[in-house]
Amino acid sequence: MATKRDYYDVLGVSRNATQDQIKSSYRKLAKKYHPDINKEKGANEKFKEVQEAYDILSDPQKKQMYDQFGHAAFDQTAGSGPFGGGAGGFQDVDLGDIFSSFFGGGRTRRQPTGPVTGNDVIARVRIDFMDAIKGKRIKFRHIYDQMCTHCHGTGAESPSDIETCSTCNGTGVVSATQQTLFGTMQTQKTCPTCGGSGKTIRNRCSKCNGAGYNRVKVDLDVKIPAGINTGQQIRIVEKGERGYNGGPNGDLYLEIIVKPHKSFVRNGNDITLTIPLDFVDAALGTTIEVPTVYGNVEVKIPAGTQPSTKLRLKGKGVNGLRGGTGDQYLEFDIKTPENLLKEQRELLEQYKKIEPKEKSIFQRFKDRFKR
Ligand SMILES: [Zn+2]
Ligand SMILES: [Zn+2]
Repeated sequence: MATKRDYYDVLGVSRNATQDQIKSSYRKLAKKYHPDINKEKGANEKFKEVQEAYDILSDPQKKQMYDQFGHAAFDQTAGSGPFGGGAGGFQDVDLGDIFSSFFGGGRTRRQPTGPVTGNDVIARVRIDFMDAIKGKRIKFRHIYDQMCTHCHGTGAESPSDIETCSTCNGTGVVSATQQTLFGTMQTQKTCPTCGGSGKTIRNRCSKCNGAGYNRVKVDLDVKIPAGINTGQQIRIVEKGERGYNGGPNGDLYLEIIVKPHKSFVRNGNDITLTIPLDFVDAALGTTIEVPTVYGNVEVKIPAGTQPSTKLRLKGKGVNGLRGGTGDQYLEFDIKTPENLLKEQRELLEQYKKIEPKEKSIFQRFKDRFKR
């Protein structure tokens, strides 16, 4: 069996093409391969292929199924598409999962009239490097839809004002039969009268005018724990988007972005600091005061320190959120003087004249190329 071509390839559009782009591309190709116009061999097949691709991609529901499952979504021979009978085509996937992903995943309307939790909301918060290490409280104003405290989200002035919807008899959905390319399809639509709640309201709540929620401003005071790093999130319960049918709000997540420091570089819980070091100090060794995120510490730099040398200051890294403490690593930017004073030059020339115990570094390097 020939492999079926990707519908987007058939129409020559990208996966994120708009409906207008899909339509215009379809028109061009349909004209090009139309059997009345194009008598070339294979044109008819091309025309059918274009037609089929357009039927799927121009229908938002089918397009979504195709994006998710590819040709398998419409493959009659495989036994079933997601809307076919049984779960035969999807041995590995629980049907519940398939349907939930149609509605954007996660929180679903399994029972249209039941309470539905609102969507989560993400807000990005930029904090300074040192605040991430030591922790910080942040205060900010948050605007969100809070469930109405008077009607508890029902939108009714009193519980006796809530009636069962007569259009859908309280089910929240109405059925419709649709003729499609692949046969008769039974679809369910949200009830237009009650909007899916299954209920209608006689007297609306006076506090929220029947909406079930009120837009409120709250001042939040949030503790950012010490050790947090970029990408980690803080969850604030039920401050996200409002729920439906009396369901709770989603959560608000603060995603932390830590601004880089001008000298300290963080890698997990470890910190690296590069410090400039005079070449004489590197050769002879010295003791210096080195900054850490906890203040200065005295560090003994050993004689013969190289540009590749790394020194570890144990426990001077970050106290991680999930336990464990990192280290600080010192790296060296060894400086060679650019303008020598006369006396310095003389001393270095004298240093060079001293007969070395072994061959010079450069001579040893050159010897490696002899063989
Ligand atoms: Zn209310
Ligand atoms: Zn209804």
